[in-house]
Amino acid sequence: MQKNEMIRLKIEDMGVDGAGIGKYGGMTFFVKDAVIGDTVLAKIMKLKKTYGYARLTEIMEASPERVEPPCIYARPCGGCQLQQMSYQAQLRFKQKKIKDSLVRIGGFEETRIDAVLEPIVGMDKPFAYRNKAQFPIGTDAGGQAAAGFYAGRTHNIIANTDCALGVPQNKAILEAVLDYMKECGVPAYDEKSRKGLVRHVLIRYGFDSGELMVCVVVNGMRLPKEAELVKRLCETEGMKSISLNTNTEDTNVILGACTRVIWGEAAISDALYLRDTSSFERIGTKTVYRISPQSFYQVNPIQTEKLYSLALEYAGLTGTETVWDLYCGIGTISLFLARGAKQVFGVEAVPQAVEDARRNAERNGISNVEFLCGKAEEVLPEFYGQGKMEANMQYPDVIVVDPPRKGCDERCIETMLQMQAKRIVYVSCDPATLARDLRRLCDGGYELERVRGVDQFGQTVHVEVAVLLMRADT
Ligand code: SAH
Repeated sequence: MQKNEMIRLKIEDMGVDGAGIGKYGGMTFFVKDAVIGDTVLAKIMKLKKTYGYARLTEIMEASPERVEPPCIYARPCGGCQLQQMSYQAQLRFKQKKIKDSLVRIGGFEETRIDAVLEPIVGMDKPFAYRNKAQFPIGTDAGGQAAAGFYAGRTHNIIANTDCALGVPQNKAILEAVLDYMKECGVPAYDEKSRKGLVRHVLIRYGFDSGELMVCVVVNGMRLPKEAELVKRLCETEGMKSISLNTNTEDTNVILGACTRVIWGEAAISDALYLRDTSSFERIGTKTVYRISPQSFYQVNPIQTEKLYSLALEYAGLTGTETVWDLYCGIGTISLFLARGAKQVFGVEAVPQAVEDARRNAERNGISNVEFLCGKAEEVLPEFYGQGKMEANMQYPDVIVVDPPRKGCDERCIETMLQMQAKRIVYVSCDPATLARDLRRLCDGGYELERVRGVDQFGQTVHVEVAVLLMRADT
């Protein structure tokens, strides 16, 4: 067997990143864009000892789960990995991904996982669900500024202003920015030479409020003729906030530290509603949130309502509990919890998000919540170690964590174990780090009670998971 050889294989499984997996000549091959059940012709691109990578060249027999991707860029674009699969098959893939992580990485018994893992909560409409888009700006082959997405594993821009996962408003906004750049001779940023100005355009849309925010990320403090940019954008229906963010670093991180409003407000607002966790219908209570460009806010608001409603159910609140919400962002989950608890403490590392969180509490008339700014792994041990919790009776009955993909810091987990809350609700966007952290928590005296995936990211391999842990001795 050698590189460039064409092989024919049946796809029998899929890896965590969505690549089809098949066997040929005793070796395992990963074939991107192939679907379980396909028989494909593929070209060997890379060979290792026991496995290799092959490029899909022809589908000999299509899987019954294969569908025609609605977006013509589905294959080259790095954003979606599963558009060629029916949505039901995507959900099965994600359910299996959660289970496999817990068994393989977390070391949990398969029978235990089968007993606690509930069916994944899918989306009603798995397209046009994102309230946020961050389009990289670059230069196309003809030297013109272009907006779009990175091709898988590269920083080459595929020009596309109308992503199928985003809201329809994105297109006109991006075209207005590109138009401004062209007319005013404003160059796109070039990662290689580190010259040029416009790096990214961040667009956020409040599904409930109808409010729009545009934040242009610039390799510098200002843009030439900013008024021209404002003129093109400010009349868009719903436009509330136009800002410039400065990022002059040589980094893949999109936003820099400084944001300056050039028109309108510094933030937009949106609202989330509590849902019944059996029917997932909205049941009234509405919480309003202020969202700054720098703050984290879940990208799929409909599924977020389902996720938070589940997290709230898992918290099992009766009104007497003290709850710590770690990695709380703008207080989204904290405020859901506060209505059912005695007192909530939120911990968040990004100062703008904490500022948003405090204002959000006030705006919703919620006074039994306090936000602390700092890293969870520093704030929590400090409170616990200095006896501050003891003095103020702030021992948690429930701890909620919702960390970024890398999961919880070791120190954070250790302190959580020392605090001995009855319940821990873990909300995760990465089943692998979730499984690792659950293992540590279960080794420290907790038991896995409930696990449920909520699909926030249709067409991609990502999945959100809510978990309830309870102390084994309660
Ligand atoms: N619970 C919120 C935010 C979840 S995203 C929501 O659902 O909207 C994770 C959050 O953790 C982000 O707001 C990020 O800024 C914050 N964060 C990242 N590392 C952190 C750390 N070490 N300590 C505290 N917060 C952190």
